[in-house]
Amino acid sequence: MCYCGTAQAFEQCCAPIINGEKKADNAEQLMRSRYSAYCVNNSEYIHNTYALAKRAENSVREIKLFAELADFIKLTVNSFNEQGDSAQVHFKAEYICDGYYCQLEEVSNFIIEEGQWRYLDGTLTPHNETKLGRNDMCPCDSGKKFKKCHGS
Ligand SMILES: [Zn+2]
Ligand SMILES: [Zn+2]
Repeated sequence: MCYCGTAQAFEQCCAPIINGEKKADNAEQLMRSRYSAYCVNNSEYIHNTYALAKRAENSVREIKLFAELADFIKLTVNSFNEQGDSAQVHFKAEYICDGYYCQLEEVSNFIIEEGQWRYLDGTLTPHNETKLGRNDMCPCDSGKKFKKCHGS
């Protein structure tokens, strides 16, 4: 299973897009590859798939800090709409950060720029963060306690 949740292996799913061997066919695939890039701490790829106008405000350094702090555990794509060279993807990414279970839900806007899909911006849906106890079940669905899984 790929990090992004498809049944394919990472090597067949997101890796070729992240490595530049192929382009994302659509905005959903690009979004999935950016999620997987967070999982493998490839902050350059995440930076390079921002629209040109947004790169200055999203430095590789800041992306790297977040990718290192956050342990992404699940991606859910709720909807995907495309109109010509723009698209919206509604998704939720679940992650664990510093002992808290967090959910990043967003409707993201993507555009085609220089012949490829790029992430422009998005509207977040706020969620509360939940402090994880050492004996709680880990939210990654491993069936293990937090202290024996992502909390170890
Ligand atoms: Zn994937
Ligand atoms: Zn876990």
